Amino acid sequence: MKPNIHPEFKVTRVTCACGETFETGSVKENLRVEICSKCHPFFTGKQKFVDTGGRVDRFKKKYNL
Ligand SMILES: [Zn+2]
Repeated sequence: MKPNIHPEFKVTRVTCACGETFETGSVKENLRVEICSKCHPFFTGKQKFVDTGGRVDRFKKKYNL
């Protein structure tokens, strides 16, 4: 078993677009995802509106809301 042959693997906080945060192991820090196990229809069993990439903000700007 040789040491230091893998990238540093650490616990990373992942933030989802729905506001859910959870921790996972990753070589990256501060991940952002747009869907997670809490809001994905596959896991919730129902469709749910998810604002991906500020689509609502652009809509509001366009119509001066
Ligand atoms: Zn989510």
